[in-house]
Amino acid sequence: MPASDPLDVVQRVLQILDDGSFTTTYKLAVMLALVELCFEEAAVPGPTGAVLTTPQLADKVLELYWPQVRAYGPHGLLQQSNNAPHQVGGRTLPVLIAHWQAGVGAGTTTLPYPVARRRPEFATLRDEVERVLIRMPLPKLQRVGGVHVPWLYEITWDDEPAPTDARLRRYQQTGTGFDNAVRLKPGVFEAFSRLAPLLRAFIQQRWVEKVTALNPVDDAGVALAEHLFGVDRTSLEATRGPLAELQAGRCFYCGDALRGATHVDHFLPWARFPDNGLANLVVADARCNGQKSDRLAGPEFLRLWRDRLTAETHPLEHIGARLRWDVGAERARGAARSLYLALPADARLWAGGARSVAIDRGLLDALLAG
Ligand SMILES: [Zn+2]
Repeated sequence: MPASDPLDVVQRVLQILDDGSFTTTYKLAVMLALVELCFEEAAVPGPTGAVLTTPQLADKVLELYWPQVRAYGPHGLLQQSNNAPHQVGGRTLPVLIAHWQAGVGAGTTTLPYPVARRRPEFATLRDEVERVLIRMPLPKLQRVGGVHVPWLYEITWDDEPAPTDARLRRYQQTGTGFDNAVRLKPGVFEAFSRLAPLLRAFIQQRWVEKVTALNPVDDAGVALAEHLFGVDRTSLEATRGPLAELQAGRCFYCGDALRGATHVDHFLPWARFPDNGLANLVVADARCNGQKSDRLAGPEFLRLWRDRLTAETHPLEHIGARLRWDVGAERARGAARSLYLALPADARLWAGGARSVAIDRGLLDALLAG
């Protein structure tokens, strides 16, 4: 049953998420991670379709849970499972992350994810999360009404007993003995990359509902959504100075000298690409930041942004090394392609101030090539 129509793919996602037989938010996390990785064009083409790997998924799932491990006011760490956390094997991913932060990863609790993931000790956490994903949600996600239907992806360990922890540790040490490919079914990559902003909003809403059901919180709305998925702007503070320096003290958009309040702006709007890698950050004055809002910037700005990513001197890599901050140039370039090239022909882009411009498909194609 090939799913080449994006609407078929969305229907399958709905069916999976509507199936109530899951006790944690893992299903939502894995589904959202799959969507995000397709959106970032992180998959590589395989003989029958796009292929992701379990380490990629572990990294993305960790990124999603990372900010959620912060205490939610008096509620502390929010429950993301029906299972009691002390149950053997019942340690949920957020609890596992919090445990790591209190031990091997001491001092990383307040770090933004792009910084934390560059720590050498981070590998132990990513490996552990990968083992959880392989054993639990990946083989179970596509079980609807008790029947297993590989609608979205195929994995080689679906039909066998879950791989033992020992086998997975061996694979992680040697890179052999386990096929870590998650082979997406035809059409899934295309649907996920094009419909990511829509699917993201939908999955996040379900996630908020699930966490609300699992915790005694009474504000099932904006505050909780902001806690789980909102951008933590204060955490971007360290990037402001170096980025302003890179821009010679000028606003990325209008080019005026930066004075007064300056903002670290997500070039690809956070609402469409929730990523704090350096590649997606620019510094802007309050006026441009406010005027651009959540819109996509026009070709003039896109060219500037692209040139910054491809500059031979790799200024962002230097800043990244200095701040120990992830750059994420490939992710950002992939996301930009997914966003701009999926725009309808009559969409308009922000061109500075109160101006907007119509889409020039040929120009966008050229700017986003490769
Ligand atoms: Zn400006």
